[in-house]
Amino acid sequence: MRIILAGPRGFCAGVNMAIESLRLAIEAFGTPLYVYHEIVHNKWVVEGFMRQGVVFVDDLAEVPEGAHLLYSAHGAPPEIRQQAAQRGLQTIDATCPLVTKVHLEAVRFARKGYTIVLIGHAGHDEVVGTMGEAPGAIRLVQTAADVDRLEVTDPSKVAYLTQTTLSVDDAAEIIARLRHRFPQIVGPAREDICYATQNRQEAVRVLAREADVVLVVGSQNSSNSQRLAELARAQNVRARLIDGPADIDLTWFSGGETVAITAGASAPENVVQQCVALLQERFGATVESRMIRLEDLRFPLPKPLRKQS
Ligand code: SF4
Repeated sequence: MRIILAGPRGFCAGVNMAIESLRLAIEAFGTPLYVYHEIVHNKWVVEGFMRQGVVFVDDLAEVPEGAHLLYSAHGAPPEIRQQAAQRGLQTIDATCPLVTKVHLEAVRFARKGYTIVLIGHAGHDEVVGTMGEAPGAIRLVQTAADVDRLEVTDPSKVAYLTQTTLSVDDAAEIIARLRHRFPQIVGPAREDICYATQNRQEAVRVLAREADVVLVVGSQNSSNSQRLAELARAQNVRARLIDGPADIDLTWFSGGETVAITAGASAPENVVQQCVALLQERFGATVESRMIRLEDLRFPLPKPLRKQS
C-alpha cells in the first residue's frame, strides 16, 4: 500500500486561533467555562475540552449569569450577543475573521437596500450567524434549482454571499445561475469561500487522480470535510469520511492500493497520524507527503487573551 498525505490538510488559521483562545481562556478564568456551540466541528477537539470542564451550549439559558462565554469559530448571530449582554456574561469572541468578513458584507449590502442571496447549508452555525445579521434581507439558496424559485422585489438590486466552507465547484454553478437570472447581481469584493477550504479542495482534486481510495479525516458535521469527500467521489474515487482510526474498516482495502489521506480544517493532525500508523502496521504502507500549496496565515487572538499568549 502507498499512502499519499495531502497538504495542506487539517487545522486552518481560524481553527488554530479558536482552539488557542479556548485553551488560554481556561488558563485565565478556569472552568466551568462556556462555549456557544461547538468550538470547531470536530469530535476529538470538543470531547477533549469537555474533559477539561468546558460546557458547550446551544442555549444561553444554560449559562449562569456573569459567567465567561466564548463564541466559536463559526460566529454567533446578533440576537445571541444581545442575550449574552442582558445576562451579564463576560464574552470572548473567537469567531474566525473570515466568517466576520461575511457578516460585515451582509450588513453592508442590507444597509444599501440589496436583497442578499446567501449560498450555504441550512442550519449550519455559520449560516445561522450570517442570516442573523440581516434577517429581513437574506434569502438562503442551497442548490442551483433554488435560484429558479427565488422571488425578489427588485431584480436589479440583488447581491450574493457564500458560506466560507462550500464546494468551490458547486458555488460556481450556483453563482453562474444567479448571474443568468439577475444580470446586475453584485458579489463580495473578495471571494467568501476561504483560503483553507479552497486549498484543501485543490489538494484533493489533484491527488485523488493518483488514488484508489481517499480517506478524509473529519467529523460528519464538518462542512468542509464533507465537501472534500464529495469532491473525491465526483472524480470516481472511493472516499470515506472518518473521525479516526476506529472508523477504518480494513475490508475496504486489499493492501495494494494507493490511499490519499487528507483532513478537514477542524481535524487534529495526531488523529491523521494514528490513521497512517494503522495502515502502516496492517498493510506495510509507505508514506509520501505532497504539499500542493503552502499556508502561513495566522489570525490574532481575541483582545482579552492577547496579553496572556
Ligand atoms: S475553514 Fe476558513 S472560515 Fe472556517 S475557521 Fe477555517 S479559515 Fe476560518
